[in-house]
Amino acid sequence: MRRLTPPAKHPALEETAVLTSQVIIIGAGAAGLMCAMSAAARGRRVLLLDHANKAGKKILMSGGGRCNFTNLYCEPANFLSHNPHFCKSALARFTQWDFIALVAKHGVPYHEKKLGQLFCDNKSSDILDLLLDECEQAGVDLRLSTSVSEITRVEGGYQLQTSIGPTRCESLVIATGGLSIPTLGATGIGYQIARQFGHSLLPTRAGLVPFTITDPQLKALCSELSGTSVEDCRITCNGQSFVENILFTHRGLSGPAILQISSYWQPGQAISIDLLPRIDLPVWLAEQQRERPNSELKTLLADLFTKKMAGLLAEHWLTSKPMKQYTPGELKVIAERLSDWQLVPAGTEGYRTAEVTLGGVDTREVSSKTMESLKSPGLYFIGEVLDVSGHLGGFNFQWAWASGYAAAQYV
Ligand SMILES: Cc1cc2nc3c(=O)[nH]c(=O)nc-3n(C[C@H](O)[C@H](O)[C@H](O)COP(=O)(O)OP(=O)(O)OC[C@H]3O[C@@H](n4cnc5c(N)ncnc54)[C@H](O)[C@@H]3O)c2cc1C
Repeated sequence: MRRLTPPAKHPALEETAVLTSQVIIIGAGAAGLMCAMSAAARGRRVLLLDHANKAGKKILMSGGGRCNFTNLYCEPANFLSHNPHFCKSALARFTQWDFIALVAKHGVPYHEKKLGQLFCDNKSSDILDLLLDECEQAGVDLRLSTSVSEITRVEGGYQLQTSIGPTRCESLVIATGGLSIPTLGATGIGYQIARQFGHSLLPTRAGLVPFTITDPQLKALCSELSGTSVEDCRITCNGQSFVENILFTHRGLSGPAILQISSYWQPGQAISIDLLPRIDLPVWLAEQQRERPNSELKTLLADLFTKKMAGLLAEHWLTSKPMKQYTPGELKVIAERLSDWQLVPAGTEGYRTAEVTLGGVDTREVSSKTMESLKSPGLYFIGEVLDVSGHLGGFNFQWAWASGYAAAQYV
């Protein structure tokens, strides 16, 4: 890790009686904790504030309780942003291998689940504990249940009115995340601060989020199949495809493939679902007709799906009869329905369940090297508050680590 000499403290900050730090970070989530420990390790005096009563609540909830903390195959193509080049520099300077080395240093056991996704063997708290441990070792002053009511630019830095009194710093880092899951502490304060200091915001919306369905017939199908998952479907929308599992829910559709495509979907658009991308359906159906002419379609589909799903698909979409009774034209329609199921979601479940917020602080007004604002010197933005969102699979944490580390070298 590169060590930089801390700049001399500004005289204006020496004189004041208020709680003074060289660096104040608002938000003790993934990015804020990484930034705090790395800046403090450089010898910077760091105050880390969070309004929640616990640091890293999303880390604890993540990966179904096992925190998918990074991805072996992380690269810039795994991120959405209006400025796709922005993330490259930070990702290259703190890679998945750097985070894996940190995990190994703390003896946290982990495994690859699939597609390069690394999860804790035990609990997400292993990751939070290692970050808190690093912060403590480096001397970070962590204050929880602390709210910020006002921020003003003063000579040589920023002054904050907080519930622990007035505080001042040379560098102010905004690590307050996005809008997803308000019950885990999400607020829009990062966007308000950005606006206050002259930054443009790109429209925000929920990403990595389940779809809702209102079409009565389709909703009934989803509801009846609620809890059923179909492995390795190909989902396509707006030229983007993912092959992963889908899950039927009472409200509509979820599962990794659906969450991934939701980040690319715009309201009113159709998505295409290939339920059997590994099977050449016209060939398979012709074979079945030849080899099992007296078997009903739903019986054959039960070899590929659960029995219940096969029955419901046959009932809702396709008429089930013995294979020998289908005309070539009917078999073609069946193949098309199963491989290109066109469906228009009514909407998404929104920030209530979304894993990320798309959009946010426009990265064209932030340095990709230092994460410092190009509008207000000494102000930094890291993590999800920026218009950088990862695919599902550990990429969002990797962005939090990388952007937090990048800023920490300059604050
Ligand atoms: C349920 C769930 C599961 C997820 N699982 C994964 C996963 O397995 N892998 C992965 O890569 N990503 C996962 N993500 C996404 C990942 O959690 C986020 O992208 C990541 O936490 C963003 O880091 P951040 O530090 O920018 O924001 P956050 O981690 O959200 O931290 C923001 C912090 O700011 C604080 N804050 C907010 N407003 C204020 C305020 N007004 N005053 C003071 N403090 C404030 C919050 O309390 C919070 O502690 C998941 C998200 C969710 C919701």
